[in-house]
Amino acid sequence: MKDSFGREISYMRISVTDRCNMRCKYCMPEEGVENLGHDKILSFENIERIVRAAVALGITKYRLTGGEPLARKGIVSLIERLAKIEGVEALAMTTNGTLLEDQAEALKKAGLDRVNISIDSLKYDKYEEITRGGDLDAAFAGVNAALRVGLTPLKLNVVAMAGFNDNEILDFVQLSINHPIDIRFIELMPIGQAGKNNGYRYLSSDEIKMKLPGLIRLDKQDGVADIYKYPEALGSIGFISPMSHQFCGSCNKIRLTAEGKLKPCLHTDEEIDLKEILNMDDDELLKDAIRNAILRKGDKHHLNDGAKPVDRSMSQIGG
Ligand code: SAM
Ligand code: SF4
Repeated sequence: MKDSFGREISYMRISVTDRCNMRCKYCMPEEGVENLGHDKILSFENIERIVRAAVALGITKYRLTGGEPLARKGIVSLIERLAKIEGVEALAMTTNGTLLEDQAEALKKAGLDRVNISIDSLKYDKYEEITRGGDLDAAFAGVNAALRVGLTPLKLNVVAMAGFNDNEILDFVQLSINHPIDIRFIELMPIGQAGKNNGYRYLSSDEIKMKLPGLIRLDKQDGVADIYKYPEALGSIGFISPMSHQFCGSCNKIRLTAEGKLKPCLHTDEEIDLKEILNMDDDELLKDAIRNAILRKGDKHHLNDGAKPVDRSMSQIGG
């Protein structure tokens, strides 16, 4: 369905957990965030009900995220349930990849189409630093497993940070040349720890492009990413630029948090709580609530005007 500004809303990001096996410095504090209790988290049955209601409103594309979605017990069975719903045309996941190797085949069989894997550095010491102890080999094993079982096209999410990974831009690009891997450079947003001046500095997409002469802009967008390519490269290079090139005008998504709150926009505190409605056992009411959330989407975010409305981290909202 269309929102109040004429945008067709066809995409829902579903956070299946606020927990994570890593502690990326721009996302979570070292001690982690207070986890929601198991009773607060949406059950698989309720996630399925929400998706059925959303499909009826024309939402056809779904992405599971978190926290770390692969840290949620039974995730393969949730994929199985969602993949069977008529009208779910695309089912993807964003993951740090470190728990993927063992589950990739089962996820693919259950109906997961593809994954985005987040890796901000290809150097062992820096990966360990930014993730506070993450295992880069485990993430690489996840990448290889995704390619092997066909969780493709595979995208690598890279949050670009000045003074951290700006000297690795060419290494990431090289990956997209030699392998069927699409690199997505994402501008750091002042959300969660990154909103608290924790030392990591935003690097604009334009600054990255200046380091990449000869890139050819493709005449297509992939969601909110602008896509480029080097001739002969197996993969593409995309830029997701929420800070420097606001893409609110083409935003097509709403978000569902792990505890059942619908967020019309990542950057506002506005939420519609579905928990009570789910208890009422009336799926028409559920549809009305989702419709209401879509109609409450604002026209644009105000991060560039200094607004930092969201005190929760991406792991809590569902990145
Ligand atoms: N744990 C999974 C992962 O890391 O891919 C899924 C959840 S994570 C919150 C989703 C994406 O949000 C990751 O690619 C992460 O790098 C990104 N992210 C987290 N905080 C961010 C921020 N402040 N600005 C930009 N991207 C951010
Ligand atoms: Fe976990 Fe993903 Fe946040 Fe890193 S970015 S702490 S992997 S939720």
